[in-house]
Amino acid sequence: MNNTINIQPLAQIDDVSKIFHDATHNAIILNKVSFKIYPGELVLVLGPSGSGKSTFLTILAGLQPPSDGQVLLFGKELHTYNDQELQQLRAQHIGFIFQTFQLIEALTALENILLVMQFSSIRRKTPRDRAMDLLKQFGILHLANAYPKTMSQGEKQRVAIARALANKAELLIADEPTGSLSSQQGMEIVKLLHNEAKLDHRGVVIASHDQRIAQYADRVLYLHDGVLTDKQEV
Ligand code: ADP
Ligand code: MG
Repeated sequence: MNNTINIQPLAQIDDVSKIFHDATHNAIILNKVSFKIYPGELVLVLGPSGSGKSTFLTILAGLQPPSDGQVLLFGKELHTYNDQELQQLRAQHIGFIFQTFQLIEALTALENILLVMQFSSIRRKTPRDRAMDLLKQFGILHLANAYPKTMSQGEKQRVAIARALANKAELLIADEPTGSLSSQQGMEIVKLLHNEAKLDHRGVVIASHDQRIAQYADRVLYLHDGVLTDKQEV
């Protein structure tokens, strides 16, 4: 999928480092990481817990700035977007599936999905129908009017994934999307994300420690102690 020289990456980071400071020391969480994601490809970033996967994904999505290095979203440097532009960009063009789901507890499954559709300036004639279709596709139509606190972890995860797909964002970023699902359900979700890349030409980045996802990936990268490589540590 690297014969895409003339196509602009959806997101790109160059020599990105992230350092957290505390009273006694500086922890280097990401160490000069470079990465590009193109439309139509699914990239898997494998790494053990604590290797920096969530930090990497949130920086790639413009959710937090790097300590050093450059982030380009849709061809434009992150710091050249103002707050409103960045918010709009994230709402319309980036679907983020959080490791902790980040559902709004006061809203039902259906309302959680409809809410993100409101933030998109893409007007849909029937947002409710699209939201219901997504719930159906994920086998959770019966939870349309249920609140997150009544759902299992796996059900919440499926609502979070449905919500991330609602706006048909060009870039999908999934942080451990199979973490709370049975192995069969998990692979169904990965197949679905794979279809989003291949049939709808979106860029999909998945971070996980689940090696089985590799069979659906165009590229597999490894994050180890904040260093991203294409070689697995032995
Ligand atoms: P992963 O998703 O691979 O488990 P994370 O990116 O969540 O890894 O975290 C990597 C390391 O960075 C962990 O040691 C974590 O404690 C640390 N870390 C993450 N966010 C912060 C933060 N805001 N402040 C301090 N340390 C952090
Ligand atoms: Mg994580």
